[in-house]
Amino acid sequence: QVSVGVMTSGGDSPGMNSAIRAVVRETLRRNYRCYLIREGYAGLISGKIDEANWSSVANITHIGGSFIGTSRCDEFRTYDGRKKAAKQMYERQMFNLVVIGGDGSLTGAQKLKEDWMKIGEELFAEGNIKLDVANKGRELRLVGIVGSIDNDCIETDKSIGSDSALHRICESIDGLVMTAQSHQRIFVIEVMGRHCGYLALTSGIAVEADFVFYPEMSLEENWADKLCQQLETVRKLGKRHNIIIIGEGCKNAKGEKFDAKLVKSEIENRMTAEVRTVSLGHLQRGGTPTFLDRLLGLRMGYNAVKELLRVDKDGKPFTGSQNNASVICLRGHTIKQQSLDKVLRKVEQANDEIKHGNVEK
Ligand code: ADP
Repeated sequence: QVSVGVMTSGGDSPGMNSAIRAVVRETLRRNYRCYLIREGYAGLISGKIDEANWSSVANITHIGGSFIGTSRCDEFRTYDGRKKAAKQMYERQMFNLVVIGGDGSLTGAQKLKEDWMKIGEELFAEGNIKLDVANKGRELRLVGIVGSIDNDCIETDKSIGSDSALHRICESIDGLVMTAQSHQRIFVIEVMGRHCGYLALTSGIAVEADFVFYPEMSLEENWADKLCQQLETVRKLGKRHNIIIIGEGCKNAKGEKFDAKLVKSEIENRMTAEVRTVSLGHLQRGGTPTFLDRLLGLRMGYNAVKELLRVDKDGKPFTGSQNNASVICLRGHTIKQQSLDKVLRKVEQANDEIKHGNVEK
């Protein structure tokens, strides 16, 4: 009996539930077994794993977050932690795994894959009676789905959750604009995104922000003068308020944290204006998923199962160029598979470039 496990890990994002739903329903539709792994890698290690049925995933696409729970788990970073996790999988004959999470979670999945055969040999050598010898040497098939509001995975044009987060950011800033106009105030607003400026930049365009600070930019020495000139120019054109957006991962030239409070004080040193700071915080991650995130989750979940259970012309599990570990990505409007290895290499390269300020503007 083929079994597929599905889990969410790392930061939650709206639309993950749609992906879980599609994985479960497509697996069951093919008459295979599906397991819900609860609370991320922590639940995989401790065996918080339940068999899913058709109604386990009813009425969930409209709910944000992950209904099976997610977590950050340091134990999984160790070989022993991954061995405990693999043992739970071997005992259930669960050799197909869908991991929905950010680049950290996908890196964890890759480590499990790297250790899988060695762990298997050790488990059989230890003589665990729950293991079926027929499964000795069985490979792990792995598919990753990028669920992250940050949209920071270079190989997919969209990750699940970023559209909902942007929707929430725009809605919140629209609300701030109304009060800002009445009092002619300047609002400096911090948005999420970690080291990636996608949320800051794209929301900035959508809400007609006057200035956006994003982590990939290199700050000029005279940034504060330039900012205030820009604010004064638009005020002269009749604008009664200003919106400045700042991505959470912004740093100054010395690599020090650069936040809304600092921007506020620099403006106040140069202009007579009322400045307020707002951090949108976890509101950006919560709430109802947008249509796009629901659809993306469903498409990615369905394609994850299709990829996991792909067979060759003789009906045997397909072992192609992907090394049995791939990521479901969106390119334009099309779903594509990429090898997990390649995706993680590119993410690492991109992160390095950001760290060393080597990004094309
Ligand atoms: P995200 O998946 O949202 O990027 P994290 O970076 O916090 O979130 O990663 C989520 C979890 O994935 C970690 O708590 C850990 O259990 C696992 N993980 C991340 N990096 C590694 C790694 N290098 N080796 C093993 N597990 C990892």
